[in-house]
Amino acid sequence: MDFINDKFNSAKRLYEIAGEARKNAYAPFSNFKVGAALLTKEGKIYTGVNVENSSYGATICAERTAFVKAISEGEREFTAIAVSAGSEEAVPCGICRQFIYEFAPEILIITGTDKNSINIRTLEELLPMGFRL
Ligand code: ZN
Repeated sequence: MDFINDKFNSAKRLYEIAGEARKNAYAPFSNFKVGAALLTKEGKIYTGVNVENSSYGATICAERTAFVKAISEGEREFTAIAVSAGSEEAVPCGICRQFIYEFAPEILIITGTDKNSINIRTLEELLPMGFRL
């Protein structure tokens, strides 16, 4: 996926992949299913879904699932992450914003309500003063 030269179509495609991943979300408590698709600088895509738990605090969001998969496979450089929650636009929660900031402070965040209605924002717009040790 050549994100630099074809930003808008790549963003749409990444959003679609997030939507496909969403089908695997495990959200029996909230019924709010979310999928994410994380694009590395080299063009690989890692997907993630929200995984809820009877002990609610053990729940993990789709964005962090995708990051944990990628980081655990050795990835360290990221270009964009798309988040799909079906017909509702979902932007990453505060925990995910900080989690993403650790690895990719300049990443693009793609959200939307369908592939023809997407928003592309920088993480800095969503988290202006991320925490870093
Ligand atoms: Zn989150």
